[in-house]
Amino acid sequence: MRDLDRAFQNWWGRPDHFKRPTWRKAEINEGFAIRDLSVKRLNRKWGEVLVPKCGWVKFRVSRKWLDIENSTSARVTKDRSGRWFVSFTAPASQMDRVSTGSSIGIDMGISSTVTLSNGEQMQMPELLTKGQLQRKRRLQRKLARQSKGSNRRKATKLAIAKLSAREVDRRKDWIEKTTTKLTHDYDTIVIEDLKIKNMTKSAKGTIANPGKNVAAKSGLNRSILEQGWGIFRKRLNDKATNAQVPVKVTSINPAYTSQRCSVCGHTMRKNRKSQAVFSCQSCGHIDNADVNAAKNIIAAGLAVTGRRGILQAKSVSTKQSNPMKRQPLIPA
Ligand SMILES: [Zn+2]
Repeated sequence: MRDLDRAFQNWWGRPDHFKRPTWRKAEINEGFAIRDLSVKRLNRKWGEVLVPKCGWVKFRVSRKWLDIENSTSARVTKDRSGRWFVSFTAPASQMDRVSTGSSIGIDMGISSTVTLSNGEQMQMPELLTKGQLQRKRRLQRKLARQSKGSNRRKATKLAIAKLSAREVDRRKDWIEKTTTKLTHDYDTIVIEDLKIKNMTKSAKGTIANPGKNVAAKSGLNRSILEQGWGIFRKRLNDKATNAQVPVKVTSINPAYTSQRCSVCGHTMRKNRKSQAVFSCQSCGHIDNADVNAAKNIIAAGLAVTGRRGILQAKSVSTKQSNPMKRQPLIPA
């Protein structure tokens, strides 16, 4: 009733911004809020939350217990693969970090997910094994044959959703670990101001319109990566602003970062010998293409910090995202 009341208040108050409340739909709007929250901790990994009309339900603790304890309400949700989660509403507490005085440039790519200007590369693992990928494709073909509304189709759909959930989980895990490490280690982080559109337009093409000699799998990985970049940047920003010693995240215009020589500044398309090798036509400097790009990115970012406005750098939005984090729920 309180949710419904809130929804109507919103709609009447700002009809241009909120839509008329709609009926909840089974399988889609599976979720509810818990007010007057009571939680208790069972051990290091498990806690219990009192769900009205249901009793004590165990959940896996995946954030600081103090944050959970300080929450006044929570929301229980169910994802498409049938898993239940509980999110507590307290904002995340600050990340412990000390100033390191060092800065880093990040190049985001396809062959190497993240390349740092110090030459280090961080690779997102394969999101599904070969067997899982085959199974997913087979299930998708099966789904297309099955008649709509049937129970067997529903079962196929659930099996696909479970595989997709695994992909999303693996990507999220890698993004969380990588962004935590980066914000922990560096005081200044320079990233490309990448418009995802620009990426899809590049030589490799899109899934619908792939470039020559590019396997469909590459296009698929590409789209998965592209979805990941947005989350990566968002999480990097969240963590940078919410640290005890804040991290400065600067984004720069990525034009020519892959064609410019990081040693002499010579910029030419021919410098990029292949996807992997950078070879300067002017001074003969040879480097890994991604590392060279990352070096250009940090140089541009630092030039901007020193002499403002030279390369039109703009600071990434520091708006805090929704700090709610889902905790897996297991019925007792
Ligand atoms: Zn050069």
